[in-house]
Amino acid sequence: MKALEQRIIEAGKVLGPTVLKVDSFLNHQIDPQLMYEMGKEFSYLFREEKITKILTIESSGIAPAVMAGLQMNVPVIFARKRKSLTLTDNLLTAHVYSFTKKETNEISVSGSFLNHDDSILIIDDFLANGEAALALAKIVEDAGASVAGIGIVIEKAFQNGGKKLREKGFKVESLARISSLENGQVEFLSNELE
Ligand code: 5GP
Repeated sequence: MKALEQRIIEAGKVLGPTVLKVDSFLNHQIDPQLMYEMGKEFSYLFREEKITKILTIESSGIAPAVMAGLQMNVPVIFARKRKSLTLTDNLLTAHVYSFTKKETNEISVSGSFLNHDDSILIIDDFLANGEAALALAKIVEDAGASVAGIGIVIEKAFQNGGKKLREKGFKVESLARISSLENGQVEFLSNELE
């Protein structure tokens, strides 16, 4: 998605060869117009799938997921990273090793929002090693529902998450695919440049 690539070039900060900071439009301050365009793009990319719900993870997946849900007219569920006093019954959980925080978190979703006949689109902000997406997929499968696809805002294609998820047979679509962050420069996979 050209507008996203342009924004990454203009506003993204390369924090090292594996980490990109995009807190001026996605991870802290949020650009609603860009999120809206992303929602339309996800809706277009997964138009062939019969999606009934979207599942994401708090907090940075929520904005793009809600915009996709708006376009697809389906509800959006977000997995919680912290235990909630009110989220107690019928909990589905999975462990995620966080690439950025270097710690393992238990994430949870109430099973009452996932039904066995649901066809779920998983959305997240970044794809690095695929831990978050795999944990969300496990929760979907534990609920007896199916994963219709995985939509990612920024895939770091030089890390192994995309390969891992595609090898497992998931349909993965990313709005921007970064091939390298070496020398402080963002390079995109050339086939993503329209
Ligand atoms: P994975 O689970 O695929 O290893 O990593 C994806 C998760 O880690 C995302 O949910 C995102 O929060 C975080 N993440 C991974 N790489 C980056 C990065 O380069 N920048 C930012 N801001 N977050 C990242």
